[in-house]
Amino acid sequence: MNREQVKGLKYSDYFKKHHKPDILDGLMVTDSGNQGDNVLFVGGVHGDETAPVAAMIKLYKTFLAKPELLKKGQISYLLANPKATSLTKKRVDSNLNRAFNKNSTNSGYESTRATEITNFVENNQNFSIVLDLHTVISGEFRLVIFNKKQTSAVNFLDATSDVSYFASYENEFIPNTFLSLFNSFDIPSYGIECGNNKSIKSISVAFDQMVKTLEFYNMIEKGSIPLMGLFTKSEYMQIFDIRKEIKPYPDFNFVDPNVKTGSIVKKGQIYATYRNGYHISHEDMHILLPVEKPRPTDQNAGFLAKVYRIKR
Ligand SMILES: [Zn+2]
Repeated sequence: MNREQVKGLKYSDYFKKHHKPDILDGLMVTDSGNQGDNVLFVGGVHGDETAPVAAMIKLYKTFLAKPELLKKGQISYLLANPKATSLTKKRVDSNLNRAFNKNSTNSGYESTRATEITNFVENNQNFSIVLDLHTVISGEFRLVIFNKKQTSAVNFLDATSDVSYFASYENEFIPNTFLSLFNSFDIPSYGIECGNNKSIKSISVAFDQMVKTLEFYNMIEKGSIPLMGLFTKSEYMQIFDIRKEIKPYPDFNFVDPNVKTGSIVKKGQIYATYRNGYHISHEDMHILLPVEKPRPTDQNAGFLAKVYRIKR
């Protein structure tokens, strides 16, 4: 068993010891006993993304040691895909982050799990906010993604996040995701790519985002829980307004091998080729690349977006 697998097993065991199976497997709760907001932190939608799970456990333990730190409300921590986390594999049968389709007749572990989670959310719609925490397995990438209809998103992120890339989307681009479940109940939700799973920085990005969120909702006293990193706001927020999904068909390649997030494609430019055709841009656009090397089986190879820079 390698080091990553040891972590996955250790974290899933921790959740198993502290969860509330009468409500939902993999759900831990810190309750202040006082009225206030109800926030949901989610990790391990993909079982090999262990860093945010470590951050959730660290926060849970902080309140176990000092329950008085939580002044108001309730925190729920959900290990979304316990089985895949215990195996330290992205998935058991399918991608949980595409399994939230009510009309699906799929079977398999993730489909069953998606139904369990959907039922839980249907009965607990009073969440003020949901953070769905992810990491990347290769490269280094930090991004917060949210639904375009969340009009207070820029405000919230400016106060709580030192990530500088943000992306807004409409459900049609990324259907059946975990976030789309919360979108359907109008619960503000954010998907956060915290960085490379093996770097300590990604644990601190996840941890600090959760602490800042609790401060934002006045659930904890400002500064009462030390941040793991230095909170330095970028000068600008760069918002990628997603306009088009880039499909990675067989033999897919970007024309520019050095293409990266922020690269510009001009109107009329062929920016990718595949076995039976090419992708051409119909407008001046920016590229947004969540993965470095897309595979034909991936839902998308990235997105075309309009970029807005907002001075902070
Ligand atoms: Zn993920």
